[in-house]
Amino acid sequence: MGSVSDVYGTLREQLKGSSAEVLTPDSEGYIQSIQRWSEHNVKQAHAVVKVASASDVSTTLRFVKENGIPFVVKGGGHSTSGSSSIDDGLVVDLSKLRKVTVDPESKTIKAGGGTIWEDVDVEAARYGLATVGGTVNHTGVGGLTLGGGYGYLTGKYGLTIDNLVSVDIVLASGEEVVASATSHPDLFWAVKGAGQNFGVVTAFTFQGHPQPNPIFAGPLIFLPDKLPQIVEFANKFHTKNDGNQALLMGFSAPPPANAPVVLTQIFHNGTEEEGKEFFKDLIDLGPIVNAAASIPYEKLNSLLNHASGFDGRKQFGSGAFKLPLNPDFVVQLHADFMAFVNTHERMNESLLLFETIPYGKVREFGEKGEAAGSFANRGDYYNVATCFKWFDPKLDDEIREFSKGLLRNASQSAGVEQDEKVRSVEGVGMYGNYTNLDVDAGQIFGSNAKKLQELKHKYDPDNLFSRGVRLVPRSLVVVN
Ligand SMILES: Cc1cc2nc3c(=O)[nH]c(=O)nc-3n(C[C@H](O)[C@H](O)[C@H](O)COP(=O)(O)OP(=O)(O)OC[C@H]3O[C@@H](n4cnc5c(N)ncnc54)[C@H](O)[C@@H]3O)c2cc1C
Repeated sequence: MGSVSDVYGTLREQLKGSSAEVLTPDSEGYIQSIQRWSEHNVKQAHAVVKVASASDVSTTLRFVKENGIPFVVKGGGHSTSGSSSIDDGLVVDLSKLRKVTVDPESKTIKAGGGTIWEDVDVEAARYGLATVGGTVNHTGVGGLTLGGGYGYLTGKYGLTIDNLVSVDIVLASGEEVVASATSHPDLFWAVKGAGQNFGVVTAFTFQGHPQPNPIFAGPLIFLPDKLPQIVEFANKFHTKNDGNQALLMGFSAPPPANAPVVLTQIFHNGTEEEGKEFFKDLIDLGPIVNAAASIPYEKLNSLLNHASGFDGRKQFGSGAFKLPLNPDFVVQLHADFMAFVNTHERMNESLLLFETIPYGKVREFGEKGEAAGSFANRGDYYNVATCFKWFDPKLDDEIREFSKGLLRNASQSAGVEQDEKVRSVEGVGMYGNYTNLDVDAGQIFGSNAKKLQELKHKYDPDNLFSRGVRLVPRSLVVVN
């Protein structure tokens, strides 16, 4: 291999004629191109290749393979695990692939591999359609979909992958293929849950659904003394919802007051009148802020954007909980969480989030055999997540450990052992998109991990896509 500049000069030459850009540290736009949602994932890549087509991806993959260059793929840049950034390697940046097209006849939505959810929500809404997108619309379609995908519409339509019709994917070999239920079905199975490990998806085709407007949604913010009654409401929500509602409940101490509050976000897919009736008992508790309103669907996933800014170091963690929850138990969790946050500097925007998103459809898809894909978090429980935000790098390790302990505790009700190495597919109790890179494939994919290792051997035998969850080809598995 020649000098770094010679090597990337060669790649520029190979991409000549396309509108791809190869940015190196001296290029205009390089600094912006290495920014990520979490500050601690800003890494000094040797080159960022902004590809503009599947053929550019193919050229770039062949190039990195030939030159033995480590690389990552970047969609929306929102993973907190660092799997889309790299020091001293190359980034395949998909941000030029932002096109969304809708076929009104089949009601399908085709989204470029680098789109964010806002692109999809807005374009689909022009046709009166929607699919299951993330709850913060600047999140990437790529990472969220390939790891599963939960959203407000999950109660009605399952996970994002349950609405995936096909992907256009460039394999480690550089070959461009379409994976669907009928074309490379084994690859399609793998992509639905473990997609980051199998190739670069340059386009996703989703099934859209007619989405009437407006919907009723927004935040209700409470003082912590209301927590026991909020938990009682969540307990009733579990049996009362019909899949058209969602309830997020979070602990935090956000600005401007920086004082502890219980944040709830409510959603009803219907009219304001119906929504107010459904959430009446919660609204009657007297929130200090009530901004729930009737809004067009395409605004729904922007409601939490202001609370999800790009500053600071961030770290997600994942667990599971079952309703009903004991209010005293939740009050204690709140106290443990706030005690940690209050005794560490500038952590007040951290969040412990109970995502009460109905999971009946997620489980139903789980019974569809192959169609369920490799995703293995389809259990009889909801997700609980930590999202820590801080600024001092010295706190990194302490926060990671605290998060694990807190989630282990918060997950008691689900009866899923957080430390178990290999879990059943019935429900691993951990959402891959909220985990870090220190978990084993078995913890995320349960007994699907074995089949995934076989398919890695078939589609990526040299383990080129190795920067996400530790999933290796069968031939490279080390048995201890
Ligand atoms: C503010 C915020 C809100 C969130 N809300 C939700 C939510 O409502 N529901 C939910 O399910 N999750 C949610 N998440 C979690 C989210 O699913 C993950 O953070 C996900 O990794 C983000 O995808 P990305 O493309 O933005 O990230 P990136 O960091 O770009 O990518 C994540 C991983 O996917 C790979 N990847 C991305 N695009 C492609 C592609 N086209 N082809 C191949 N590999 C690709 C990357 O290589 C990397 O390994 C949220 C995250 C944040 C930060």
